[in-house]
Amino acid sequence: MTSDTPPIHLQADARVAAVRAAFDGGRTRPLPWRTAQLRALDRMLVAEADAIHAALQADLGKCAIESRLTETAFLRAEIAHALKHLRRWSRPKRIAIPLSLQPAHGRLVPEPLGVVLVIAPWNYPVQLLLAPLIGAIAAGNAVVLKPSEVAPNVAATLARLIPRYLDNDAVVVVEGGVAETGALLRERFDHIFYTGNSAVARVVMTAAARHLTPVTLELGGKSPLWIDDSVDMKAAARRIAWAKFLNAGQTCVAPDYLLAAPGTAENLVPHLRNAIHELYGNNPRNSSAYGRIINSRHVERLLTLIDPARCVIGGEHDIGERYIAPTVLHPATAGDASMQDEIFGPILPVVTVKDAEAAIAFIRARPKPLALYAFTSDRALRQRLVDETSSGALAFDFAVAHLGAPDMPFGGVGASGMGAYHGEASFRIFSHFKPVMRKPLWPDTLRLIFPPYGKTVEHVIDLLLVRG
Ligand code: NAD
Repeated sequence: MTSDTPPIHLQADARVAAVRAAFDGGRTRPLPWRTAQLRALDRMLVAEADAIHAALQADLGKCAIESRLTETAFLRAEIAHALKHLRRWSRPKRIAIPLSLQPAHGRLVPEPLGVVLVIAPWNYPVQLLLAPLIGAIAAGNAVVLKPSEVAPNVAATLARLIPRYLDNDAVVVVEGGVAETGALLRERFDHIFYTGNSAVARVVMTAAARHLTPVTLELGGKSPLWIDDSVDMKAAARRIAWAKFLNAGQTCVAPDYLLAAPGTAENLVPHLRNAIHELYGNNPRNSSAYGRIINSRHVERLLTLIDPARCVIGGEHDIGERYIAPTVLHPATAGDASMQDEIFGPILPVVTVKDAEAAIAFIRARPKPLALYAFTSDRALRQRLVDETSSGALAFDFAVAHLGAPDMPFGGVGASGMGAYHGEASFRIFSHFKPVMRKPLWPDTLRLIFPPYGKTVEHVIDLLLVRG
């Protein structure tokens, strides 16, 4: 910061005020503005794919194809979905009016909330910044974007590119870390969309409370995966290994740990070894498909979770290269270091429990996870999991890929977050559905319930309100 640069809080103040002026001026409301912005964002993702993928490679060692799958193409699919359905989503919906209020006409009219703040984390730093942006723009809001400073190449790339494609008056990127985010949080927003850890979520919610700003909190936690021997172990192991080691395990919905009966766990481990080999070859370090840990602090944190006595696959690492091999710990127990907090890295503990009953008890005794997975062909068990457990989402016989269905709202419950987005759910969280009603002055039926009260009013209440 030079001596001419205003202090952080004044920069935040001025930038939010400028964006609010754009919103108040009405430019973000018309559908043509929204669709033009969405198309421009799509153009950016196509024309600048190489730059975006290079930044992801630098920050997370993510190869271009994985970046396409989980970031740029993912976003393009969300944009295409929004463009296809936006007219329908934004159309006022007719509301039925009860007989007691007839004649009258009621509609729900979606309106934008105003100025939205999106705070993104580092693990899918493009997707998690821009997917909320798609919903916010589709709903007609102005937006302040705060990328994660922990993925610095992506933050700098997006801060450079976004102003070149989107309406600079209504969509701005504010780079920075804790101080800059803190300064932004002192401003008044109409919605705050935060993705990240639950400690910062508390900071966000506290700041939001000051202005009574609604929040969406997309958090994490330990997502369990139950597997029993009713399924094809080889196929299951392949899906589990992909979901766990994608982005080197730094995925909020990655299976955090496995739950299995002792015999199933024993059978599964060699299949996991083969699956890891199939996906990443003899030495995952040399595989372009295998990513890196975001920084050395996280490598060091993760290494404390690997108990050499339980390490049956992987364990190799190189702090300088931010590399940790796909690692499986077996048999793990609830007391292990790896079972205390969300792992958020390529370490998979296999916890043995007696049976499915014990697995359900294990899951229910812990905070509600962002995702719960079960690999089983037992229909009755699947239904029990639907009925007896609570999680952001529940997926059978696969993991992580449920995020690819735009009409499946994505979000947590309890400790894993509040509010859900993607597809129409994104449009809904950034909209207020305003009830608009008109009741003509004639015939003046409302008079039937006005004072002076007497038998007639009593009859009207009974006939129209209670029975009507
Ligand atoms: P992070 O460190 O990048 O932090 C997220 C954002 O919060 C950043 O923009 C950062 O600048 C800001 N921030 C950090 N400290 C702050 C403070 N004290 N005050 C104000 N702002 C602050 O990312 P992270 O939190 O390490 O992300 C990982 C977590 O996010 C994991 O728990 C993961 O499960 C969760 N996550 C959830 C989802 C989801 O969609 N539910 C997706 C990805 C990650």
